[in-house]
Amino acid sequence: MQFVDEAVIEVEAGKGGNGALSFRRARNLAKGGPDGGNGGNGGSVQLVADGALNTLVDFRFKPRYRGANGGAGRGQDKTGADGGTLAVRVPVGTTVLDEETRTTIGDLHRRGETLIVAHGGRRGFGNAHFKSSTNRAPRRHTQGAPGDKRQLRLELRVVADVGLLGMPNAGKSTLLARVSASRPKIADYPFTTLVPHLGVVRVDELSSFVMADVPGLIRGAANGAGLGFRFLKHLSRARLLLHLVDAAPADGSDPVDNARSVEAELFACSEAFRSRDIWLVASKADLPEASATVARFRDAFPNRRCFDVSAVSGHGVDALVGATMVRVAQIRQRLLADAEFAAREQDFSQRVGDHVRQRMLEAKLREDERSHASRGMDEAEPAR
Ligand code: GDP
Ligand code: MG
Repeated sequence: MQFVDEAVIEVEAGKGGNGALSFRRARNLAKGGPDGGNGGNGGSVQLVADGALNTLVDFRFKPRYRGANGGAGRGQDKTGADGGTLAVRVPVGTTVLDEETRTTIGDLHRRGETLIVAHGGRRGFGNAHFKSSTNRAPRRHTQGAPGDKRQLRLELRVVADVGLLGMPNAGKSTLLARVSASRPKIADYPFTTLVPHLGVVRVDELSSFVMADVPGLIRGAANGAGLGFRFLKHLSRARLLLHLVDAAPADGSDPVDNARSVEAELFACSEAFRSRDIWLVASKADLPEASATVARFRDAFPNRRCFDVSAVSGHGVDALVGATMVRVAQIRQRLLADAEFAAREQDFSQRVGDHVRQRMLEAKLREDERSHASRGMDEAEPAR
């Protein structure tokens, strides 16, 4: 299945049905009263968050959604049928923006949540509606109104309890494969993980959490290098970040420096991440060069919880999974009990989404400038 986290669609609600102009007719009735019925309301278009979906790919193939028109009113006081609401299913975690103004219309982050994105046109009134004591035979009747029509930008940020953060090759995919049934690609070169992978980590019969593995961050990611920052938005709904750092890098680089530079990239992408709970995890603890790394992490990052694991030998994995489960359970409790906390969490996710969108726009502008500049140079080339 193809993973797509952005799509632009057009939604158009149905038109309201027209009201009718009609008078009652009967053999024994010379001049019957007005009996033109009202039209039906146009059908709205509504998005519904569906837990069974996890990609926006379908919207690439079907980018247009129309609500049904309301039926026209008829004589004998017959009302037109309402258009009925068109429900369009989107994955849980979808943010909806107006493509033109780039303002957020809503965020569907809970299963079953709904959002009307185009209101159906109001019905027209038949002439019977305008009957009064002073006007017994009105000819007045109104047309149904057109429905809303707009372009929407859909953005998906995956919903996971825990997000894995780290450079390419840190061992994120290997860890996810070790602790869940998810089978992400694993290899010795950067960017094997091109799309976020979600894995359910089952701790016991009653408790589990969802862990997200997103493409790795590299130096300069916040400025548009590599793939990194584009995917950071997928960490925005995670309540806890596990920052995996290769404890024995083959290139001889310093794990503490590497950890610092990933955090710096994360914060450069969005300041909002500074307030996030981040745990440092020294990976590949089975390698002899790794032995000193955790102690160095504890010194260098006194405010972070530090762990060491080996996804190969299994060393430290249970301790990490156990501690993560405890924290995730605490946060879930708090989300239920503390509305202010839940609102802050929601706000955090939106802010990260906004920042990433801004960074992507900046990167695109720079890209456009560069291609302009190089085209300018071609033109300056002397003609032969
Ligand atoms: P990612 O880019 O962070 O997803 O990293 P991968 O999971 O793809 O792993 C990168 C490389 O590190 C692969 O060659 C893995 O086999 C290796 N690796 C991952 N975890 C461990 C570990 O715990 N011990 C050792 N020795 N190698 C590991
Ligand atoms: Mg990977």
